[in-house]
Amino acid sequence: MANRQPLIGGNWKMNLTPADARGLCSALLDGLDAGLLAKCGVSLFPPFPYLSQISDLTAGSGVSIGGQDVSAHENGAYTGQTSASMLLEVGCTSTLVGHSERRHGLGESDSVLNAKVLVAMKAGLDVMLCVGETLDERESGQSEAIVLQQLQEGLQGVSINDLGRLTIAYEPVWAIGTGRNATPGDAQSMHQSIRADLGKQYDVGSANGVRILYGGSVKPDNAEAIFAQPDVDGGLIGGASLQSEDFLDIVRAAVATVDS
Ligand code: PEP
Repeated sequence: MANRQPLIGGNWKMNLTPADARGLCSALLDGLDAGLLAKCGVSLFPPFPYLSQISDLTAGSGVSIGGQDVSAHENGAYTGQTSASMLLEVGCTSTLVGHSERRHGLGESDSVLNAKVLVAMKAGLDVMLCVGETLDERESGQSEAIVLQQLQEGLQGVSINDLGRLTIAYEPVWAIGTGRNATPGDAQSMHQSIRADLGKQYDVGSANGVRILYGGSVKPDNAEAIFAQPDVDGGLIGGASLQSEDFLDIVRAAVATVDS
């Protein structure tokens, strides 16, 4: 895994009551001792209305929080949207951009996602840019071309100096929430292509510093084999992030790859 520290993200999506969210967060904080957090970054992506509460609970713990999305605009008449500065105000240090449930579910284009990346970085947020192919694209042999196009268009105008604030999440759409995950070899192969492309867009040294997470039906029983791949630097976890013991086991699996 070179010198990259693994990162595990928990994407809670539009789930949990406020009380459940607080309970989940507390259970995670109880299980995440300093030893684990010294070896693995942990970021939570709660629903927007819970960010302040989860920010209060996680303050000083070493666990960071982020938005599930961010507006492409800095401020103004954009009903229902949340700006990067608002996320920062409530304690977020990062945001997801381009999760497939927005990219494919809501039709967000690469150019909109690129605007989100630029606005978020300009405001000072770290960005986790999600990329991934659909099942049709995979079956027609286009996976790599699609993913690299999403990567290149999403990063238009991002300077090499900002790469330290970028994480890529490779999330094949057919694997998200389906119980079907990419094999460790398939994940490694795509992650390697993503890193090689970053090396061409920027330079190899900078590309080697960027964390590339895998997302798509990661569970405690498949996590370690996926995270053990040399270009896989942890995971973005949906369903299993809602169960504290499963999420903690996934963090432990990432730590095991550092220890081995
Ligand atoms: C996700 O939402 O980013 C995700 C990977 O979901 P799941 O783990 O449920 O497939």
